[in-house]
Parts: sequence; structure tokens; C-alpha cells
Amino acid sequence: MLTHEYQARDGAHHLHPFTDFKALADQGSRVITHGEGVYIHDSEGYRILDGMAGLWCMNLGYGRRELVEAATAQLEQLPYYNTFFKTTHPPAVRLAEKLCALAPPHIQHVFFTGSGSEANDTVLRMVRRYWALKGRPEKHWVIGRENGYHGSTLAGMSLGGMAPMHGQGGPCVPGIAHIRQPYWFGEGRLDEAHGMSPEAFGQACAAALDDKIRELGAENVAAFIAEPVQGAGGAIMPPESYWPAVKAVLAKYDILLVADEVICGFGRLGEWFGSQHYGLEPDLMPIAKGLSSGYLPIGGVLVGERVAETLIEEGGEFFHGFTYSGHPACAAVALRNLELLEAEGIVDRVRDDLGPYLAERWASLADHPIVGEARSLGLMGALELVADKATGQRFDKSLAAGNLCRDLCFTSGLVMRSVGDTMIIAPPLVIRREEIDELVELARHALDETARRLTRTAQTQEEPSA
Ligand SMILES: *Cc1c(COP(=O)(O)O)cnc(C)c1O
Repeated sequence: MLTHEYQARDGAHHLHPFTDFKALADQGSRVITHGEGVYIHDSEGYRILDGMAGLWCMNLGYGRRELVEAATAQLEQLPYYNTFFKTTHPPAVRLAEKLCALAPPHIQHVFFTGSGSEANDTVLRMVRRYWALKGRPEKHWVIGRENGYHGSTLAGMSLGGMAPMHGQGGPCVPGIAHIRQPYWFGEGRLDEAHGMSPEAFGQACAAALDDKIRELGAENVAAFIAEPVQGAGGAIMPPESYWPAVKAVLAKYDILLVADEVICGFGRLGEWFGSQHYGLEPDLMPIAKGLSSGYLPIGGVLVGERVAETLIEEGGEFFHGFTYSGHPACAAVALRNLELLEAEGIVDRVRDDLGPYLAERWASLADHPIVGEARSLGLMGALELVADKATGQRFDKSLAAGNLCRDLCFTSGLVMRSVGDTMIIAPPLVIRREEIDELVELARHALDETARRLTRTAQTQEEPSA
């Protein structure tokens, strides 16, 4: 099939996620046909460096035979059986055991789901159930963060703090509140009234949690949910002061911590879980994405002993689960994926070699005239685009600088995502140093071209229309 045929047929029948349906049908999708290592290829024969690891999930990269073989062998052996009603199967048993061996020691149980969104629906059910079993059903409020992302089901989007999603979903799930995000470049730096350093801003964001808890009444608050590093919100690493202060607040009021590890888990930040990087001991950790390196869909919730013991000892039947909870082929692929990440020392390599290398190369982009900040942690990075480097002033929204830069990246052979005017990357964890060099060169090239076009636009606007 030719590209335009794919596009016409796709446009006629396919409603894409997070997409303006009409605009895409008019414009035509880019058709990705195959992948190898850190590269994807499109139907026009172009090779593109996938700086986003698909959607933050292709941790082992494309084309891993071992994962294909694990899926094939399991599909032949037992393509499906459920884990309801006192049944199980070998891949689910082995994966549960492996995950609990990799997780921090206080976590010894996992509940399987089909995705990260289902994992967060499960979180909400478990948190409410936990406090109800403790005889405190009124302790059911969950606090999330503005611009946090926890998925796209009704519970996922309600826990998340994406304003455009809340704007479309009708009434959100009740009993969920949000506090400000620890986004220093976007919010703290500009807070002139306070003129905040990152450390002071981190403290202020933790204080906002304390305020919200007191506003709701600590006796009514069940849990706080957050990503260790915000992913979809713009690769936002909180100031160093943030997590220790948040931990102290939660301990003070006896409130559960849910660390959404869907992106940060499985090596992205140079540890098996992002929580380990920040020294967190979450009660619940939703997982998905890198769990299977995206080869097959699977997610889950890692459940700490405090909650697990109550659900097990006092709960009776938990009326919750999915047809595909612990799906055998998905579990087999996830298990193989974890074994490979471990055997190839990939998580340590991200921490000790690739993360520091990316940090150094990525920071070199900070001198670019339209870059206000370049930050990274492990294999996650962000660039803040600005119109004025000295003041950090943003481009006019109507210029859509981020989208322009993203499109220019794509044309020149790099997937870099835009969140407003924040450019983000999260490449496969198997990326090599020379591929990091290539990524940074392609990014610089796109920044140059973005700057050139935006300057031209600005000049055109200033010229008299005659
Ligand atoms: C992607 C994501 C989810 C949702 O996962 P899906 O598999 O898309 O449902 C939840 N939380 C975080 C942090 C994510 O990045």
C-alpha cells in the first residue's frame, strides 16, 4: 500500500487517541512500518531516531527477538487463561515473583492490569477499600497534582491534573483534589512576589500539600498520588527539597503515598523504580509501559505490605479485576523483558554511564538562543523554549513554538515531543553514546530551524502591511 492510501483509509475509519480527528484526517498520519534498535522507519523510507521510546515504553528498543520468542512460545503453550476464581498460570506466577524481587523490600505483592490507566483505577479502589477496612470510610479523599498524568480512563484522568482533559470529561470522579506542581521553571522562577529559589519553591509546593490536607481535614484524606518525575506534564524533575518535605507531611497525617511509576519504573531514571532515586517508600506503585518494553500491553499495581496485609487479612473478596489481568503472553513478555534488563545491566548503565553522558550532552543545548533551560535525569530530558533568554520570557502562544519544533524534528529524523513550549525526550534505554550524540545534533538542528522560522514570523509581523 502506498502512503496516501494508508492515510486515506486511516482517515476514513480510525479515531486516534489525543488527536483532533478532523485535522488529522485532512492532513494524513505518518505511517510507521518497522523499527530496529532506537530507530523507527516510515512508509516513505525515512529512518527516524525515536527520542520518545514510542510513548515512553520501548525501554529495550525495537526488534528484540527474545521478546518475540517469549510471546510466541507462550501463545503456543497457553494463549489465554484468566486469574479470577482461584486459578493462575506459570507466567503470572513467575512475573509476580520477579517484580517483588526487584521492588523495594516492603513491597511483596502485585495486582495485574492491562494498562497504566487500569492500574490507577485499581489504586483508587484499593485506597478506598483499605481505609474502609480500617474502619475509616470517611478517609477517602485522594490528592493529586495539577498537570500530573495518571491515564485516560475516568479515574485516571480524575486523579491526573490535566486541565484540558478535565474540561472535556464532564464531572470527574468525586473525592479527588489537586495541588500545585513542583515545576520550578514554569511556575517557581516566575513567582516574583516570592522570587523563589528551586529549593524554596520545592518547600512551598510541599507546604501546599499540607494546606490542602488541613483544608479537607486530615481525617478525610486517604492518599497522595504523584509521579516521581512528571512525564507527560513535561519531564519535570522536582527540586531536591520537594520529596523529603512531602514525605514528612504524609507521615505527619498518616496518609498513603502512591508513586505512579508507569514512566519512571524499569530503569528510566537509573534505578528499577523512580522512587528509589528519590528515597521514597510508597504504599502503592502503579506500573505499565516499560514493564513489557511496550511489546505487549500489561500493567499492575505493586502493593506495599501495609495495604496488602489489610486487604488480605481483613478484606474477604475484593470485587475488582480485568479479563486480561496477568494475561499469559503479556506476562511472559514482561518477565523476559525484566530478565534482559537485568542480564544486560541496563538499569545500572543508565545510572552510571548513559544518564551522566546524556546530562552532559543535553546541557550543551542550554547555550542555544531559544533555550531557557536544559534539564535531564537518567534518560529523560527537557528543553524549555523561550523568546528571550535573558528574561526567560516565553514565545507568544499563537506561534506554537513547541509544535513547530516538534514537526521540524520529525522532518529531520528525530522524534522529540512537545508539551506546550517544553520539548521532551525519553529514548530507549539501549541507546548508545554515539546515538545520544546524534540525538543532540538533530535536536540542535531543529532548534536552529525553529529559531530561524520564528524570527522570520516576528519580522513579517512587524513590517507594515502595505
Ligand atoms: C502513560 C501513563 C499512564 C497511563 O498508562 P496507559 O497504559 O496509557 O493507560 C499512567 N500514569 C503515567 C505516569 C503515565 O505516563
